Amino acid sequence: MDYVGQIFRPPSEAGSLLIQVAVGCSHNRCTFCGMYRAKKFAVKPLATVLADIEEARETTLATGAPPESAFDRVFLCDGDVLTLSVARLVPILEAVRERLPWVRRVGVYGDTRGVKTKTVADLTKLREAGLDIVYHGLESGDDEVLRRIDKGGTRAEAVEMARKLKRAGITHSVIVLLGVGGRERSQEHARETAAALTEMQPEYVGALAMMVLPGTPLGDEVERGEFEVPDKFGLLRELFTLVDEARLTDTRFSANHASNYLPLRGNLPADRAALLDTLGTVLATRDETLLKPEFLRGL
Ligand code: SF4
Repeated sequence: MDYVGQIFRPPSEAGSLLIQVAVGCSHNRCTFCGMYRAKKFAVKPLATVLADIEEARETTLATGAPPESAFDRVFLCDGDVLTLSVARLVPILEAVRERLPWVRRVGVYGDTRGVKTKTVADLTKLREAGLDIVYHGLESGDDEVLRRIDKGGTRAEAVEMARKLKRAGITHSVIVLLGVGGRERSQEHARETAAALTEMQPEYVGALAMMVLPGTPLGDEVERGEFEVPDKFGLLRELFTLVDEARLTDTRFSANHASNYLPLRGNLPADRAALLDTLGTVLATRDETLLKPEFLRGL
């Protein structure tokens, strides 16, 4: 397989075949993100991607074991594959369907910049060719925070993205980032993110907790004393607000990523009371023994 540089994928794609169709991120400016700083964005030649699909087919079938025991999901890397054109993505999706027919789900990272350039008809074409799920780094529903972190999109655009994906029948998984508003906008960030999620009604929401990476613009802001991450209970207070105020009607919610101090997951709205009870107890007691130790956190 032709992999350029370090490869990232969402936690729920841990068992997936990773096919790199582009290198890096075409935006590469979010101040907190260190994933693709060393990579210059490039779309990989179609022939390279198709050769990878063929190699995956041959090596999987050569084992003689049922192919779905090796993988039954595919994730197309790197950072914002949805910015690629429909003309480039459709042959890749069709090749996955034809050459890896046991695959049940294909996913990509995407955000408002990628969806903005596509109509519902474009997205429907992608879904019909085999795209099932888009992982969307919303990070915050607060426009002031989005501006400060240079996310490259507004809350209104993110809501519009959700509507388009829904109309096209593509599953929408939204990632939000606790602490990205800093101490200064902590509760505005949580409340506005809850409101954005209410408008978006995604099928999945994953909450990650901020870990500042040295060498990123945000890392520099922290060093200069211009940005302060809320403490662990501040992050949990944001999570409480998010769960309490988001009026989700049928969403799988998780905050069990390696970065979270208190791993939680549940269905909203069914598990809201239980999640709030757990969070409320920790916030009331401030018992650090209930939290993940710092050395066990990761990205
Ligand atoms: S769009 Fe995603 S991958 Fe690109 S810089 Fe922002 S967070 Fe990183």
